Order: sequence, then C-alpha cells, then structure tokens
Amino acid sequence: MKILVTGGAGYIGSHAVRRLKQAGYGTLVLDNLVYGHREYVEPDELITGDLSNAALLKDVFTSHRIDAVMHFAAYAYVGESVENPAKYYRNNVAATLNLLDAMREADVNKFIFSSTCATYGEPEQTPITETHPQSPVNPYGWSKVMVEKILHDYAAAYKLKYVAFRYFNAAGADPAGGIGEDHNPETHLIPLVLDAAMGKRKQITIYGTDYPTPDGTCIRDYIHVSDLAEAHVLGLKHLVGGGESDVFNLGNGGGFSVREVIEVAKKMTGLPVEVVEGERRAGDPAMLVGSAAKAKQRLGWTPEFSGLEKIISTAWAWHQHRFGIKKEV
Ligand code: UDP
Repeated sequence: MKILVTGGAGYIGSHAVRRLKQAGYGTLVLDNLVYGHREYVEPDELITGDLSNAALLKDVFTSHRIDAVMHFAAYAYVGESVENPAKYYRNNVAATLNLLDAMREADVNKFIFSSTCATYGEPEQTPITETHPQSPVNPYGWSKVMVEKILHDYAAAYKLKYVAFRYFNAAGADPAGGIGEDHNPETHLIPLVLDAAMGKRKQITIYGTDYPTPDGTCIRDYIHVSDLAEAHVLGLKHLVGGGESDVFNLGNGGGFSVREVIEVAKKMTGLPVEVVEGERRAGDPAMLVGSAAKAKQRLGWTPEFSGLEKIISTAWAWHQHRFGIKKEV
C-alpha cells in the first residue's frame, strides 16, 4: 500500500512516515517546505508543492497509485491565526478541500486527519472526552473543527472513510534520531526550556502563575510524537480493515504543570534553567488533559512513552544533536 503524507517533512508528519515504513507501507510526501524540513524526507519520495495547487494534486493522484492519505499539512500558530485568520482558513480549510476533491476524483477514500485538542476550547470537564462540545477560542482551532465537519459531511455523502485524531501536546523525538521538533519561530514550552538549559536563550518565562491549579501554572497533557505516529498507523489499519469513520483523542490522560516540565527538564539535562514568572498568555486554558480511552479501546493504541521523563529525554537528545553538541543521537 502507498500512503500520501501531506506535511510529511514536518514534526509529526516525519515521525508518521518513519512509522509507516517500519510497518511496511510505501510513502510519498507532499510538502510545501514552508515549515517542513527537506532533510527529514528521502529525496526520491518528496514532492515539493502546495495543496492550493489543484493541478499538482491531480497530477500526484494520476501518476501514483495512492491507497490512503494522511493529512498533516497545516499552519499551527495560534497567535498568528488570530492576527491573520485568512491564512489559516485558506491553508487549513480551503487547501484541505482541494485535497479531498482530488481524492474523490481519483477514487481514494481513506483519510487520516491531524486535528487538535484546540477544537474543544475552554474545557467544561476534565479529562476531555471526544463528546465534549467543540467551541474553539481561536481561528486555528476553528479551522480544524471546520475540516472535521467537512469530513463528516463528505463521509455521509460520498464514499470517504476517515479517522480524525485530536492531539494534545505533541512532544519528544524519535529515539532513533535524525528528526524532531524544530519550529521557526519556536513557541512550545519543552524546546524553549531546553534552549534555556543549553544557554541558547537566557531564561524561560512562565506564562501565568495564578491559575487555579496546584502550583498556579497551566497543566497540559504531553504525548510523545512517536506514540502519535503509531496511532496513525493503527487508524489506517482500522480503515483498511473496514472500520467506520471516527474521531479519537490522543494524549496520555495525565497532566503536568509548566513548573513540573521545567523541573523535569532540569533533572534530565543536569543543567540549571533561569525561570522568570510572567503574565498569562492570551487564550491559554488552565488545564487541558484528554481521555484517550477510546483510542486505546477501539484501536488498541498503547502509548509507549507515558512519562514526562522519557518524553523530555528524547527531546533533549534531539536538541543536542540539532545544535551539534552530540554527533549521534
Ligand atoms: N508556556 C510557558 N512559557 C513559554 C511557552 C509556553 O509558560 O515560553 C506554557 C503555556 O502557557 C502553556 C504550556 O506552557 O500553558 C504549553 O504551551 P505550548 O505552547 O508548548 O503548547 P500549547 O498548550 O499552547 O499547545
């Protein structure tokens, strides 16, 4: 089977490509390389192009026998989505429609979609289950809800079968090395704390210490990127095996505060981290923790990297490799 992976040169997409190959699937990556990394992909399987290009999509589906699509390509900066929603609706929603229509024309009907816990908005109860209302607090989250809705309607009207995964906080890197988190600009907590440990930035600022949590800082559910990748392979097998379209949370079902993340990072690196207590960041819920019971039960998914220490140690190995401190990861 050959799987088209859009955004396969990105952080999560590149881990999915690796896992797909390990499971014996052929892969083809379509990535515009705006945020993706050319070096994460084998040159002979990379098509550099944009999903807004309908002619390119048609060509991809006519010149390759594609059995299923994993769709990671999207913009994912919450703040930017507030300032420039057009960019998010055009790239995350309109371009996904192009992809779905090209699939329809080529009679490809299996689709795995990267959605997000940002589709829930401010949680009404914790842990969040898939039936929790979806009321995002930013255009990024809305762009993902809109695609989920489109998938629902396409599945009802056409032959599409899909799995949408709502990720909690993706973190870590494949212990085998070579790929990992590398955003520019970087806004995520774990790589920023590791930058501070490494001296690449002076300090880490905690965004808010007056939240209604035990230590006053926000709690998030961190999930290892290789565990996310594995879930995608299981989602694909579910569809190939005749399973129905469905939506699954992917998280560890437990949360860690910003202070806890910083403490574990200090322990795993053995280095000091200068911490500054700052203002809250707009749009941050106090606590985002998901229940992944459904994915475990229906897909047989078992996260391998369940503890924060394991997650941060793989992130640290990658971080050191990236900045040339260690030759091998
Ligand atoms: N955070 C922080 N300082 C930073 C970056 C993030 O205190 O420099 C906090 C942020 O407010 C959130 C948590 O760390 O509560 C995780 O943020 P991240 O951006 O990694 O992921 P998000 O939960 O926003 O998807």
